[in-house]
Amino acid sequence: MTTDTNGQSLNGHQILPLDVLIVGSGIGGLSAAIACKGKGFSVTILESTPKYSHVGAGIFLGGNATKVLLDWGLEEDVRQVSTDLNNNKFISQTGEILSSADYKTLSKEIGYPLLQMHRADLHDVLLKKALSLGIDIKMGQVVEKYEVQTPKAITTDGKVYEADVIFAADGYRSNARSQLLGRIDEPRPSGNSAYRALISTDKLKHYPELAPFLNWTDQTNWVWVGEGCHVVLYLLRHGTVLNIVLTQAAKNVNDANYVVKVDPAEVIERYKEWDPRLVTMLQHLPKDNTLEWRLCDMEPMKTWVFPHGKIALVGDACHAVLPSAAQGAGMAIEDGVAVAELLARVKSKDEIPAALKAYDELRIPRCASIMTGARGDAKRWQGKGGKPASGVTSTWSWEYDVAGAAREIKLEE
Ligand SMILES: Cc1cc2nc3c(=O)[nH]c(=O)nc-3n(C[C@H](O)[C@H](O)[C@H](O)COP(=O)(O)OP(=O)(O)OC[C@H]3O[C@@H](n4cnc5c(N)ncnc54)[C@H](O)[C@@H]3O)c2cc1C
Repeated sequence: MTTDTNGQSLNGHQILPLDVLIVGSGIGGLSAAIACKGKGFSVTILESTPKYSHVGAGIFLGGNATKVLLDWGLEEDVRQVSTDLNNNKFISQTGEILSSADYKTLSKEIGYPLLQMHRADLHDVLLKKALSLGIDIKMGQVVEKYEVQTPKAITTDGKVYEADVIFAADGYRSNARSQLLGRIDEPRPSGNSAYRALISTDKLKHYPELAPFLNWTDQTNWVWVGEGCHVVLYLLRHGTVLNIVLTQAAKNVNDANYVVKVDPAEVIERYKEWDPRLVTMLQHLPKDNTLEWRLCDMEPMKTWVFPHGKIALVGDACHAVLPSAAQGAGMAIEDGVAVAELLARVKSKDEIPAALKAYDELRIPRCASIMTGARGDAKRWQGKGGKPASGVTSTWSWEYDVAGAAREIKLEE
């Protein structure tokens, strides 16, 4: 782990022994915790759920995020649960290949792998790392409000947790964000939803026409594009399951229900005129676990930092993004590294607000560009006939050294 556990920062001064409190232990909260612990800070996490459940499906990580995981010494653990993404192909809704991109070469140019894995497997890897570092995770602690002057998080049952600095990584429907803005702030529905499911590949091996989609050793991300819809498909878990995400106008989700179970027959009905190979795969969607997710994002915020400069947002809480960017988790991982690097530079607790101001300056422009790009991609792919020639916009964001950028940004005196 390329950290400063000896308490010595890169520019020679002794790292302050700060108490860091993190609210939420998704990918964002765990990443911030691991990065802060690596700097020698004392780290406590408050997590609302009493017990983790294996939610989510496949996610992609660009070189910007895999670099961090490798720096943390997690290459072996991550390799066990992921695969390299070597190609990306756009296909018309009737099945013709429209464009093809070589990500194996791109990955070599970037210098870091482009990986696909199950969100729950990545969460497990980060959780194991956090626990091995001795990070204290208090489960079943629902944070209701914050006090900003001397940073405090107060739970629904009245427990008060005080720290030198607090990071709220409480997800896209963040209660902390609402408190910062002074109003209930729900993410903005895009009007689209994603049907997400994992299909067992055992059920698909008997169809010769599906062989290209089941090649685990040379993985391709397949993207069908059509009017108002796009479909993303790739393998997970050593090729035992196919991750499928179908994006179209939302049907069953609403303000009260952001994720609902759906009957696979509904999905098949919507896509019955598409590439027959896709329809064959859809016929094997699991009856008990095909979910419709409401797709939301948000306008980039002006600041992620609370008044007095000692509490800040991290992860989806401050930059919920459409999945077409495939960067929600990547940006959350970057946030964690950024806050740890910046805090490691403060020479007294009075400088914490300057570090969090620099966090805003470093992170908001980058995340805003990714969020805007994601909206553009989703629109282009779903335009009439789809216009996939220019492919995935977010590839520019896969090459980025967040730790280096955080070390270079100026801290105000
Ligand atoms: C269809 C789809 C596909 C996606 N694909 C990709 C992809 O390919 N690549 C990628 O990088 N990202 C992808 N993402 C996004 C990615 O999953 C998220 O951006 C990422 O997981 C966000 O992590 P987080 O820690 O910020 O939030 P969350 O994972 O939501 O974690 C928040 C945590 O805070 C806890 N919490 C909430 N409220 C409180 C409270 N009041 N007190 C205490 N704890 C609280 C929650 O229990 C939870 O554990 C995708 C998302 C979707 C919907």
